[in-house]
Amino acid sequence: MTQVERHQWDVVIIGAGGAGLRAAIEAREQGLRTAVICKSLFGKAHTVMAEGGIAASMGNVNEGDNWQVHFRDTMRGGKFLNQWRMAELHAREAPDRVWELETWGALFDRTKDGRISQRNFGGHEYPRLAHVGDRTGLELIRTLQQKVVALQQEDFKEHGDYEARIKVFQECTVTRILKDGDQVSGAFCYERESGRFFVLESPSVVLATGGIGKSFKVTSNSWEYTGDGHALALLAGASLINMEFVQFHPTGMVWPPSVKGILVTESVRGDGGVLRNSEGKRFMFDYVPDVFKEKYAESEQEADGWYEDPDNNRRPPELLPRDEVARAINAEVKAGRGTPHGGVYLDVSTRMPAEVIKRRLPSMHHQFRELADVDITAEPMEVGPTCHYVMGGVDVDSDTAAAVGVPGLFAAGEVAGGMHGSNRLGGNSLSDLLVFGRRAGLYAAEYAKERADARPAVSDEQIEEASAEALRPFSASEDAGDDGPAENPYTLHQELQQSMNDLVGIIRREDEMARALEKLAELRGRARRAGVEGHRQFNPGWHLSLDLRNMLLVSECVARAALNRTESRGGHTRDDYPEMDREWRRANLVCTLAEPGPESGGRISLRRREMPAIRTDLLELFEKEELIKYLTDEELTAE
Ligand code: FAD
Repeated sequence: MTQVERHQWDVVIIGAGGAGLRAAIEAREQGLRTAVICKSLFGKAHTVMAEGGIAASMGNVNEGDNWQVHFRDTMRGGKFLNQWRMAELHAREAPDRVWELETWGALFDRTKDGRISQRNFGGHEYPRLAHVGDRTGLELIRTLQQKVVALQQEDFKEHGDYEARIKVFQECTVTRILKDGDQVSGAFCYERESGRFFVLESPSVVLATGGIGKSFKVTSNSWEYTGDGHALALLAGASLINMEFVQFHPTGMVWPPSVKGILVTESVRGDGGVLRNSEGKRFMFDYVPDVFKEKYAESEQEADGWYEDPDNNRRPPELLPRDEVARAINAEVKAGRGTPHGGVYLDVSTRMPAEVIKRRLPSMHHQFRELADVDITAEPMEVGPTCHYVMGGVDVDSDTAAAVGVPGLFAAGEVAGGMHGSNRLGGNSLSDLLVFGRRAGLYAAEYAKERADARPAVSDEQIEEASAEALRPFSASEDAGDDGPAENPYTLHQELQQSMNDLVGIIRREDEMARALEKLAELRGRARRAGVEGHRQFNPGWHLSLDLRNMLLVSECVARAALNRTESRGGHTRDDYPEMDREWRRANLVCTLAEPGPESGGRISLRRREMPAIRTDLLELFEKEELIKYLTDEELTAE
């Protein structure tokens, strides 16, 4: 029998990025004992890397802004596939979440009259992103951490123990959600440093683990984004939706190879940066789709005029939603009009004085100087698409963030699906984290309170199974035997990333995705033989072997859903079905874990689910002419 430590908590939050910390603060404010567990060091999460800002319709820079306009932009960006109730809550509550951050000590950049400044971003009708230079995520995480520390100090005064009601387990990873019957009962974890296992028992578990980018070769994401929360949810019996929608950010670095994929913030374009091909042409004017034609400038003169006089000029096409810009760059490079390193040029040097660039985009200035030996105040950057964000995630109740079908499981932030539909607008993630992080913490706390007298139990058998699963890589070489040689987890990871990049990337084709599924089946078989040497203390090869299970599950969801959706929409572009199809707008593709069967059949089953009808008062925020582009005739006449 494996002996592991057991800790009892009321709410367990997996992930200490923006969503996790906001959830933890809320659960603790509700008076509940809350544990936060994170794979990396406390403070090192994707949220800290966020650059451009937080979208919230405070109307500080243009008074025309309000939650209705934000809602409209978000639905347009997601091509109407968003769970409309989430988009509504998000647009309504985002300003309060930003002001709340300010009361907790966040120092945003200011307007001349001292209000929180807001900047332009793709797809947002008005300047809407509250920001701190291009290091907004750092300020957000700093503020939330400071709030956690303040709460711990209060607890020390009351209980003589800083960790009485909120404790952070850093550099610890969850490998399984534990259940008592159909209810959640806790999480099985290991500590990176010692390799020691432990269990956090709790009736409520919030997933706030972020995204899946490490399944792709070129990505802006860091090592932790291995789709753990997505996989943990599937393995616990929850469903994932919208997994075919992966956002390729249009501007990642393309050179040198060692930094390929690192993000170049959209603020560069929001602040006036323009995209040109190798012929010097500002090509985005050729790529404005019909659905956006009325809103975007037709000439360089009009586009440039918009920065000073937005009421009398239309927006530059560089500020189209990300999916449109990424596809355009891809097309230019493919047509032979790319830069020497396979990107396009992004130029701010001819648009702003050097000192303004250094003040408004300090990280970009530093990043290019240090990593590529390019001075962005004097020369253009070379950029190209990079895998950045996953719109798909855990199927949740819009109001409570509860995972559908698994009592006690909640999800918020990038790991949750629905909010962004087929494509997320920049800035809408940081606001999403705060709005739904708070809601997840609140409802997870309420759920736990209701079960205070009858807590679900964690059985020894489950712990035994989770331990055996986690230790399997150490005996893989011995077990390999007749099934083939032991496999190196790093080789498997590289093959997975290459396949997802090449076969399920920015432009997709049926035969390639079918090949991707075959490759995933092969990798799944080989991953069972992924072996590691050495011991359990800080063993990255072992950790990667465990992450592979998650990446393979999640990649299969992406490939299967992408193969099934025979249209192009948002972050899903089919070469063989290039048009958006109004009939498909009514469908969510839902992934669940399949019953064990022949390996070739895969581990994921997919079903199609009808989208709920959008509430009438929300539909009335749009012109009928616009709705015709998205809704079916049946839906339009049903109004
Ligand atoms: P994260 O902040 O990534 O936190 C995930 C947490 O889960 C981490 O603590 C991790 O250690 C933990 N974790 C993961 N798996 C496990 C496990 N198995 N066990 C325990 N812990 C686990 N969005 C915007 O709105 N505006 C921007 O300007 C912006 N800029 C960006 C710039 C970059 C370079 C990147 C990469 C993203 C940017 N985004 C931006 C997107 C945004 O930052 C992310 O979508 C968001 O931060 C995700 O937050 P989260 O709380 O869901 O996850």
